[in-house]
Amino acid sequence: MNKHAGRRDLVVAFDMDGTLLNGRLVFALADRCNVREQVISMMSKSNMYGYEKSSAIARLWKGLSRDDLLEALYSIPLSRNARETVEALKGYGYAVGMISDSYDLAVEHLASILGMDFGIANRLVYDSSGILTGELVMPLGWERIGCRCMNSVCKRFQLESIADRLGISMDCTVAVGDSDNDICMLEQAGVSIAYRPKSLAVRGKAMHVIDDLYDVVDILQDNIHHY
Ligand SMILES: [Zn+2]
Repeated sequence: MNKHAGRRDLVVAFDMDGTLLNGRLVFALADRCNVREQVISMMSKSNMYGYEKSSAIARLWKGLSRDDLLEALYSIPLSRNARETVEALKGYGYAVGMISDSYDLAVEHLASILGMDFGIANRLVYDSSGILTGELVMPLGWERIGCRCMNSVCKRFQLESIADRLGISMDCTVAVGDSDNDICMLEQAGVSIAYRPKSLAVRGKAMHVIDDLYDVVDILQDNIHHY
């Protein structure tokens, strides 16, 4: 039996792109398809909601195969200490996983490599030959809880659902992210951590700002008496 089994009532949710991965899957895919400019311009559109952008960007991947997607994933290095951090957190008995607005194939693959307990993402649709159709099945969730994020994956909804499923309060949740799409989960988590935040908004929403993922372990060790 794990000597820290008593701490299983803590859940740590990581973002993938820019947090566990030192890069973004959509850019790795865009570079393979020579559409980086298009992706950047779609991402910066102010007249589209997040989920509309995700849906539009996914259409660019029509015709790619699972292998294309995995090769793009493999081209992105893990962030420094990503593996060590997840290993340490799991060693303490915490439930550790990923809540990402990237794609299921990549998120499940990375979650499996890192030995994580859960991986939540958008689902890509394939035709009968295993080729992407460009469609995206988005979990959403903001419409159910009144979150204003309007993203393809409402990370707050997902974090709340996981906590609910594990029967723990939101005080015992930890969120780690770097971008604006992480804000709604950072706002609700018991402990919010911004890893190399990409905007002032993200930095401002987090209780802790870190430059090394392993700081997550140290922060939780310092805070453990609260749980
Ligand atoms: Zn949300």
